[in-house]
Amino acid sequence: MQTYDPNTFISVDSIELSDDTQKLLERSREVYLDNFSGRTWYGRCIFLSWYCSLGDCTFCFRSTQKHKIQHPAGSKRSMGSVLLEALFCKVFHWRIEFLTGGYGMMPFPELLEFAKNVSTVYGEKIWLNIGVISPNHLEELRPYVKGICASMETLHPQIHKEVCPSKPIEPYDKMFSTLTGFKKSIAVIVGLGDTVEDMHYLFDFIRKHDLDRITLYALKPIKGGAFTQGPSVEEYVRWIALLRINFPRLEIIAGTNLRRSEEVGYLMRAGANAITKFPATKQFGTSRAAMVTDLIQDEGRDFVSNLIDCSSVDWQNEIDSLEIEEQYKEQMRKSLPLYLNGFNSGSESDS
Ligand code: SF4
Repeated sequence: MQTYDPNTFISVDSIELSDDTQKLLERSREVYLDNFSGRTWYGRCIFLSWYCSLGDCTFCFRSTQKHKIQHPAGSKRSMGSVLLEALFCKVFHWRIEFLTGGYGMMPFPELLEFAKNVSTVYGEKIWLNIGVISPNHLEELRPYVKGICASMETLHPQIHKEVCPSKPIEPYDKMFSTLTGFKKSIAVIVGLGDTVEDMHYLFDFIRKHDLDRITLYALKPIKGGAFTQGPSVEEYVRWIALLRINFPRLEIIAGTNLRRSEEVGYLMRAGANAITKFPATKQFGTSRAAMVTDLIQDEGRDFVSNLIDCSSVDWQNEIDSLEIEEQYKEQMRKSLPLYLNGFNSGSESDS
């Protein structure tokens, strides 16, 4: 199987798809066009903290020793920088994929405050991905949250036990079985060991819980982690295409990253509704951001998100007009130059 080293860039010319996969993409593209308008967006995950008290999923950067030393418990982001990302989502027509962070990252009242402020800045209810949530907490979150995403990673029972030893499937299964009045979504990683033939586990879970959305990621190996290679573009697009064909109305969000970003045209052909995980703030206005935009539009999609031009934005006015506490506005003003200086920098970091 052709796989990809996370340290090298994929060139679109090097992406080889078999005839069989190309036929599959023709079908998935048709199914997409029969069911959606072509409106396509960039989804941004907003992280609240780099800490996770579980920290033992074998593919996750939080499981590495280096991460644990650099990010001890309590290392969380300021409200100002989180809210700035929410403002970027609003101004640039990115969607907030979800608000997320590791287990045990902060007490619930703080989390609630983040959810409330992010939804206020963004101007609508948001998705949340913070693990299993108790019914009481769900009720408190309801005014600000429209959907719950669960990072299932894989639905293959044996592989799940191996890669997520402290995060069993059952509590999520139970949460979704009783969840009412919220949309439901899961996030899954392609490349953990389950094959296209194992996708029936995933299909069963989608059907059982009548999911509204799924986010797929191509595994990105991390230094010191258990995996050394991510899936080929061919393997990744086959997963997306098979999902699209089997679930014509399901919202499919496909993750990509800086080094894989030349694959996005194929992600569109496979039937993805949107992309996520492209490092849009670090790459804002760069040739890579322009390439991603072009590749999506070349597939006939109406790409509504702006990855390129912020020249007409009056940031001070945007912040002044928000209905949030003055202290948070002040934090946003302070963090703003850091972000704006990073725009157009083209850093090779994927964060
Ligand atoms: S629960 Fe999530 S954040 Fe924590 S180690 Fe596992 S994948 Fe990483």
